[in-house]
Amino acid sequence: MTIPGQLSPSPRILLGPGPSDAHPRVLSVMSTPLLGHLDPQFLDIMVETQTMLREVYLTKNPLTFPVSATGTAGMETCLVNLIEPGDKAVICTMGYFGNRMVDIAGRCGAQLTVKEAPWGQVFDLQQIRETLQTVRPKVLGIVHAETSTGAIQDISALGKLCHEFGTLLVADCVTSLGCSPLKLDEWEVDAAFSCSQKGLSCPPGMAPVSFSQRAVDALKARKTKVQSWYLDLTTIMGYWGGDRAYHHTAPITMVYALREGLRLVLEEGLEARWARHQRNHVALKAGLEALGLQYTAAANCRMPQLNAVRIPDGVDDLACRKRLLTEFGIEIGGGLGDLKGKAWRIGIMGHNSRPTCVLQVLAALECVLLGAGAKFTPGSGVAAAEKAYTA
Ligand SMILES: *Cc1c(COP(=O)(O)O)cnc(C)c1O
Repeated sequence: MTIPGQLSPSPRILLGPGPSDAHPRVLSVMSTPLLGHLDPQFLDIMVETQTMLREVYLTKNPLTFPVSATGTAGMETCLVNLIEPGDKAVICTMGYFGNRMVDIAGRCGAQLTVKEAPWGQVFDLQQIRETLQTVRPKVLGIVHAETSTGAIQDISALGKLCHEFGTLLVADCVTSLGCSPLKLDEWEVDAAFSCSQKGLSCPPGMAPVSFSQRAVDALKARKTKVQSWYLDLTTIMGYWGGDRAYHHTAPITMVYALREGLRLVLEEGLEARWARHQRNHVALKAGLEALGLQYTAAANCRMPQLNAVRIPDGVDDLACRKRLLTEFGIEIGGGLGDLKGKAWRIGIMGHNSRPTCVLQVLAALECVLLGAGAKFTPGSGVAAAEKAYTA
């Protein structure tokens, strides 16, 4: 064989549903030397990472750490540890990732009740209350920020509601952490999971999870072994908990990355970060709407970090995304599931939630859409965003 040439990826701006660009400071710490996973210095780094993670999740939960894998492993960790075969679980789904929770909960052997909301909409608490009342499940799973539709579910009062019925709340916070308000303790969330590559501006590879005391009690009360060896919290905590006993080799470099990503969040401040995401969303939305693009999520439940819009009739999805990538170096996402071929998903997450990204994607989209025959006044998208920034 001929040995492939040295790796040299083209410059890109990652404005899809994830991964989003890693912050330069994150990339920089990733090229520092490895420590052993039981080196006293690395153990300090673990403590610092866990402490910052609690601050960012707004929780005091001792059981808070990053699973060594992507967001989906965070989902699986929460569900396999809390659901034993035969346990009742309710999964509320309003899109692609809710359906993934349904699949995983089913594989855990849950006696499953699935509640569905139309894609692009969210649940109101009254509907969920009725289900809790009739089913009385052990676990209720829901996606906080549904990346397939751009809809964000208000879960601020859901934990309290679940607790009225002795139910544990599991929340998918993969796209909300680091972008939208999320307050685990105040909202009484029992098990939360997220990822490193969206709002935290790190590469993919870590899944921060956090378990409340209620969830830990449920874990301790299990009658059967957790069906996954790798994701069994009762043994992982031998490493990420107090004893620091070998469980698996921590992905050292990814822990460095996460530590730096969390430092960036805390330096900025959570409130300021949420406000920044909102400000850039308002500008992007003004621009997209000026181009005639319509959001897939209802007006009352749009998240700032993921802007999903319908592709105009007659415009070729793949051809447009290919032009964005090859001519402008910009990646945006296509639709998933029910929205496949019908929507574009523009992520402005973490480090990428900034005017440069908003104005560039709008200008590039204008070119591509005009080329595809869409009708609007050239320059109107960028102008609308500029106006939003200067208002
Ligand atoms: C991205 C995403 C996931 C899956 O995370 P991976 O890191 O791709 O495994 C799960 N849930 C939601 C809401 C997501 O956006």
